[in-house]
Amino acid sequence: MENEKIARLNEMTEKFAEKIAAAVGTPEAQAIWNEYNAFLANFHRYSAINTMLIYVQHPGATLVKGFNSWKTLKRNVKKGEKGIGIYAPIINRAKTEDEQDRIFFKIVYVFDVSQTEGDDLPVTEPKWYATEKRDEMRTALIEFAKAKGVTVEIAGTESILGTAKGVSMGGKIVLGADSGEMTLIHEIAHEMLHQGDKRTSEPRTRAEREHEAELTAAIVGQAFGMDTSSAIAYLVNWKATAESIKKALNSVQKVANEIINAIEGTKGMEVGA
Ligand SMILES: [Zn+2]
Repeated sequence: MENEKIARLNEMTEKFAEKIAAAVGTPEAQAIWNEYNAFLANFHRYSAINTMLIYVQHPGATLVKGFNSWKTLKRNVKKGEKGIGIYAPIINRAKTEDEQDRIFFKIVYVFDVSQTEGDDLPVTEPKWYATEKRDEMRTALIEFAKAKGVTVEIAGTESILGTAKGVSMGGKIVLGADSGEMTLIHEIAHEMLHQGDKRTSEPRTRAEREHEAELTAAIVGQAFGMDTSSAIAYLVNWKATAESIKKALNSVQKVANEIINAIEGTKGMEVGA
């Protein structure tokens, strides 16, 4: 029975990949891409696989919790609503020194807020990311980079950049004078994923590195209400496919989460829904 369920969920992840393939290959690309990114940003705390599972089963989902978690918020799952299956890790602690901890996955069910009714959710603070606060975003990103041992330099007019908007040099990022925060996130992703020993830890092509960096920028940017529309053009330009995006998603999600969490922790900034 459990195997059947896993097979069904696996089938759903295939569908997800098809949807992403559509996002890089059709005229409706931008709309699909925006929808998907908005979705991803809401679920950045979930693993890549669970994000896919939620997306495929409930594309409009914005906030999911388990049955009992909703109860503690004084909301109830409506009658007849179907749970969204996701994987939950179960850890079997070793009982003797010779044994190892064993992790396996079990399917648990969560429900989207739209499937529940009851008390209003606690009101969240106004979104901080209005354009006039963009400097704050930049400062937060530069601080984050610094904490990672990476300095950020803004290029002068005599730029070494040529036509590039920014460059990651390993411990140093040079950002074009008129480049935005999406570029800064892109370069930070290169620093975290592809510089030093990380560059050689797994052989990657230049295109794969670009997919990972730009997907990170898209996820983080979307989480903070930034304009991420340039991301799809960039990805298409680097010949992204369903397979490559799915692969990139697995590598970048942790880094994207880390950046989002660090920025969120700055002066009480919050991710917008
Ligand atoms: Zn790049």
